[in-house]
Amino acid sequence: MKYALVTGGSRGIGRAVSIRLAAMGIPVIINYQSNGKAAAGTLEAITSSGGSASLMQFDVSSKEQVESALGQWEQAHPDDYIAYLVNNAGIGRDNVMFMMSDEQWHDVLDVSLNGFFYVTRYLLPKMMMRKHGGRIVNMSSLSGLKGLAGQTNYCAAKSAIIGATRALAQETAGRNVTVNAVAPGFIESDMTKDLPVEELTKMIPMKRFGKPEEVAALVGFLCSDESAYITGQTISINGGMF
Ligand code: NAP
Repeated sequence: MKYALVTGGSRGIGRAVSIRLAAMGIPVIINYQSNGKAAAGTLEAITSSGGSASLMQFDVSSKEQVESALGQWEQAHPDDYIAYLVNNAGIGRDNVMFMMSDEQWHDVLDVSLNGFFYVTRYLLPKMMMRKHGGRIVNMSSLSGLKGLAGQTNYCAAKSAIIGATRALAQETAGRNVTVNAVAPGFIESDMTKDLPVEELTKMIPMKRFGKPEEVAALVGFLCSDESAYITGQTISINGGMF
């Protein structure tokens, strides 16, 4: 049986992605860090509409937690493997660089970049060994493409994800594992709820924030059989904003 793991699946984009993949008939493992209530809400949304899902708590930035949680899952599922990995967990700790603390810098890099590394490295061998291969989708950002003042930490992490996506895609292409990144613009979620929406909306050609479900539809496509020849790409989804 092929499973999907969505990191940061409890809320926002990750929740919508979990629901989308489950609707495609894939059993989904919903990872979260601390918001068990929100994670249970995602689980309920999936199971109540006939999908299959389970919860898995761990901090993606902790190598020990990642390896322990995934190791336990593998022991309990000897005939299954995680064929779809969506590295979605991310945080923002915005500040201008001259005032940025060590903590703000490292926390953002630890979750978005090191988290991607720990989870992906752990799952890659199994994915590459299987005939049916796998799909990896990494959540980057418009910020990682264009740069945004007040987000040097976030932009560094999200740009790095694009570079790593291109490199890893070349390592895994021969094994039927595609690796792509998605770069959303402003999407409605907890991460963006305190932003000056009216002001920002004026800068977006489509004059609105995107919806998590719209990003989830793109991730769903990148996880489908139809996207088998797309790898190493970063697909923007931003209402025309560059
Ligand atoms: P969100 O609503 O703030 O949700 C963040 C999710 O990440 C939650 O599920 C949270 O789990 C999880 N998470 C945070 N730190 C974690 C850790 N150390 N280990 C495991 N899970 C962790 O964010 P979002 O807006 O949906 O963003 C999702 C992704 O899209 C992020 O990578 C973000 O950078 C990216 N993105 C967002 C936007 C946007 O406009 N919203 C734009 C571009 C890119 P808990 O619920 O347990 O806290």
